[in-house]
Amino acid sequence: MRTTDVVVIGSGFGGLAAAKRLAKSKVETVLISATDEHLFQPLLYQVATGVLESEEIAPNIADVLASRDSVSVVRGYVTAVDAQNKVITYRTDAGVEELGYRSLVAAAGVAQGYFGHDEWADRTFSLKTLDDAVTLRAHLLDCFAQPAGEADAHTYVVVGAGATGVEIAGQIRELSTRHFTDVPAKVYLVEGADDVLPVYGGKLSTFARRTLERSGVEVLTGTVVTDISDGRVTVRSGADERVLESRTVVWSAGVQATGLAKVMADATGCATDRAGRLLVNDDLTVGDRDDVFAIGDMTSLKGYPGQSPVAMQQGRFVADVIRGKKPSGTEFVYLDKGSMAVVNRHNAVVDAPFGITLTGALGWITWLGVHLYYLVGFRNQAAAVASWFRSFVGRARPGFAQVVPASSTEVEDRSAA
Ligand SMILES: Cc1cc2nc3c(=O)[nH]c(=O)nc-3n(C[C@H](O)[C@H](O)[C@H](O)COP(=O)(O)OP(=O)(O)OC[C@H]3O[C@@H](n4cnc5c(N)ncnc54)[C@H](O)[C@@H]3O)c2cc1C
Repeated sequence: MRTTDVVVIGSGFGGLAAAKRLAKSKVETVLISATDEHLFQPLLYQVATGVLESEEIAPNIADVLASRDSVSVVRGYVTAVDAQNKVITYRTDAGVEELGYRSLVAAAGVAQGYFGHDEWADRTFSLKTLDDAVTLRAHLLDCFAQPAGEADAHTYVVVGAGATGVEIAGQIRELSTRHFTDVPAKVYLVEGADDVLPVYGGKLSTFARRTLERSGVEVLTGTVVTDISDGRVTVRSGADERVLESRTVVWSAGVQATGLAKVMADATGCATDRAGRLLVNDDLTVGDRDDVFAIGDMTSLKGYPGQSPVAMQQGRFVADVIRGKKPSGTEFVYLDKGSMAVVNRHNAVVDAPFGITLTGALGWITWLGVHLYYLVGFRNQAAAVASWFRSFVGRARPGFAQVVPASSTEVEDRSAA
């Protein structure tokens, strides 16, 4: 059995940050990931709505790490962790393999959660993987190609008004008002809390709500989904129940841990929260092990948000502990540099440190700049700028050129016009 210094599981924000930092000290590292790409999840909604092409947000992880000689990349799905013997088991196309380690860093992210209604997974669209975005994109294109009389094809229900829900609702509405103007579309944004972007609150939530409503999105706050079946979404607000007939329900309302969190909890005695995320120790170690770390979305620590900066800072932190730049046992403290969400073209909200907030065009330009900075690879950055220019200044949707809709090839021509 092969053994390496460090095994990193996951090629997302946390895994990539850890691997890059470990490479600085030439620590022999194997990064194992279920997918070949490093996926920039915050821009998935732009792939789903044709603003960006898939490759622009998903460079191959082996290419990204190619210049780091001490890091090798393996495509594989980790199925077991033997913490006592320091061995992981993973599945590849070729079969089942084992790999020994000195330290283990798990950054396996989360999956979509359905509040106990797992059957809704098959009746809704989610936005967690590149496949999700590509599937939704083809479906949207197909819906917009349907005749105006097919009302359920032109009714879109987005569940969950966090950043992803707001962004996707805003973009679907924009598709109908700027791109596919000859069919009427209705977009609903359903949220159980009393406002959109509930974690922002105050004037940022108010701004986001007003901007969406002005654009024509119907925002249903204080409203919960009670059933999804056969193209019908039942929602309840207080004593009022309402049925929305729709072929498109985008679910962005909750998360739950992936299988690896349970595997690691069982292997280390670590407790989990209600979503199955690992309740890691303050130094990001897991359970009773000082050689096993978990970071990013699959963990729950001090209420830190499930956002990419947390995963990246944690990735660098554990790498520094492993390569001896920080004493083991050091407490991880998140440096919050703010958060932001796009509402629609030319409108975003930014909640920056020291009470600074930005809304509207200023927020949008800030959002563009920050996301461009964090996109991996110069080629992707250049391509994204070109696509944003074509989509937001012009009226093209470059991503739709990758898809031929099931119902009409005309749509593709119109979207590129
Ligand atoms: C639609 C959407 C929009 C978002 N918008 C924002 C935003 O605007 N700002 C922000 O800061 N954050 C945003 N986030 C959250 C952000 O993307 C996450 O916080 C971040 O990706 C977490 O990084 P991670 O490394 O923990 O997990 P991920 O980036 O999810 O990576 C998980 C990795 O683990 C791999 N994996 C999983 N299980 C296994 C296994 N058993 N074996 C091997 N590999 C495995 C996966 O293939 C993947 O490579 C958004 C997320 C989504 C889904």
